[in-house]
Amino acid sequence: MKAFYCDHFVLPLPEGHRFPMEKYRLLRERVLAAGVVEPEELTVPHAATDEEILRVHDPEYLRRVAAGELDRTETRRIGFPWSPAMVERSRRSAGGTVEACRAALEEGAAVNLAGGTHHAFRDRGEGYCVFNDAAIAARAMQAEGRVERVVVIDCDVHQGNGTAAIFAEDPTIYTFSIHGRNNFPFHKEHSDLDVELPDGAADAEYLAALEAALDRAVPAARADLAIYVSGADPHERDRLGRLKVTRAGLLARDSLVFERCRRAGLPVAVVMAGGYNVEVEETVEVHLQTVAEARRYAESWRRFRRTIVPIHPSATQETKT
Ligand SMILES: [Zn+2]
Repeated sequence: MKAFYCDHFVLPLPEGHRFPMEKYRLLRERVLAAGVVEPEELTVPHAATDEEILRVHDPEYLRRVAAGELDRTETRRIGFPWSPAMVERSRRSAGGTVEACRAALEEGAAVNLAGGTHHAFRDRGEGYCVFNDAAIAARAMQAEGRVERVVVIDCDVHQGNGTAAIFAEDPTIYTFSIHGRNNFPFHKEHSDLDVELPDGAADAEYLAALEAALDRAVPAARADLAIYVSGADPHERDRLGRLKVTRAGLLARDSLVFERCRRAGLPVAVVMAGGYNVEVEETVEVHLQTVAEARRYAESWRRFRRTIVPIHPSATQETKT
């Protein structure tokens, strides 16, 4: 299974900043050490191009991000100090999701060991998000003629508000978000399907809500590709999460998402999104088990594919006229 990483494009942060930048390097090391990804399967993605970004973002916003001309309010909202490295990192993270989608369409599943910047809107960023990688990748797959419809399955504990707003008027991209009701963002957007959980929701409540929602969202989406914004932050010891889902509960979540995608014959591109555990190692373990589930999915896809071809006619270019 292909995996894309960009952790060596480090975004310089001031001392004491609460964003766990090191989790990306630790995750790459961990997936290699666990044998979940082989060294030759790891690739550095391209930096998302202006053309790719502009299918989603406002030209003036991109220009100001690239030139370092964001004002103080915009920069504070994003939560990262501006630097050329921040721009490069944001482009690479989005490029990783574009490439993970391409690879997933070939092989059933692929992973971006970054991405999940779902709070980025068309003309602004917020909550550590500059460019919306899932939106850029979904539009890229459509523009490249690889898919007609995409479903974004967002299980990060914070609502995928940027993604919901970007695709609010686009019937070809189905947005689903399951998140904490009392969590950032405090003003929620409308996804095609939103499920809000109360503070302290634990495994049983979380998984029952997710299962019911997937049973609605996946058939309704009629998609050719799923982008799974996984997120490690519903975890019980996450500093920003407010939920009480255990590590085992998050593994059950991943299994459920992949199982419903399998039923629909959907290739899945997985992105990491948030994770702010008291111990960064716990965030890394939660992401690791998601990557491991993705790998199992890619392996079963090869067998699956031999028996039912084609899975989704619109997912292959040959059937297009
Ligand atoms: Zn989050």
